Amino acid sequence: MTVTGDKALVLLSGGQDSTTCLYWAIERFGRQAVTAISFDYGQRHRIELDCAATIADKAGVSYVCLPINTFAALGGDALTDTGVDVRGDLDTETGLPNTFVPGRNLIFLSFAAAYAYQRRIRHLVTGVAQTDYSGYPDCRSQTIESMQETLRLGMESDVRVHTPLMHKSKKETVELARELGALDAMADTHTCYNGVRPPCGECPACLLRAKGFAEAGVEDPLIRTV
Ligand code: ZN
Repeated sequence: MTVTGDKALVLLSGGQDSTTCLYWAIERFGRQAVTAISFDYGQRHRIELDCAATIADKAGVSYVCLPINTFAALGGDALTDTGVDVRGDLDTETGLPNTFVPGRNLIFLSFAAAYAYQRRIRHLVTGVAQTDYSGYPDCRSQTIESMQETLRLGMESDVRVHTPLMHKSKKETVELARELGALDAMADTHTCYNGVRPPCGECPACLLRAKGFAEAGVEDPLIRTV
């Protein structure tokens, strides 16, 4: 299938990175051409879905939340399994933090591509990054390139997966958000692994976020407003 229009679907988690990507897509494709999609995957912290809806609303783009509530049944990760606490150290066997949800990005991209296909949307935008990331193998450019190829083959389409943050540090991502006029929207984002507002300031996600803002010399609007 060849799509002639330039419509984009942004995977919006309600976090800092995907919100930056939303504004990147608006600048590149135009507000009217952009839709944001979230996944209700059974995450423990429902607050991020509220954040995503608010961010899309304020950005003036269409928004959809797809229910794919199956991850908790797989178990074992700290983001969906209520019996597992977030730990800062790495699993001795896998070398990954226990916030890694196996297959999550692959499944998100598959659903997003299917949703996009039905609406003749060619461009998918995701905020994954391999710099300063948490060691998640599904955030690497190699994984995303391979996934794009799989989606193209599997759906006989010319879908493109954009990763504007792939090689940016957290500092550079904050700078990009500033350039795109997305800083105000950061006040509505959610990053904390402990799911609290104001953020805990101590979990790995909070620490990484704080480092990025500090290095960019920008005050985090989330900290300022809550
Ligand atoms: Zn936190």
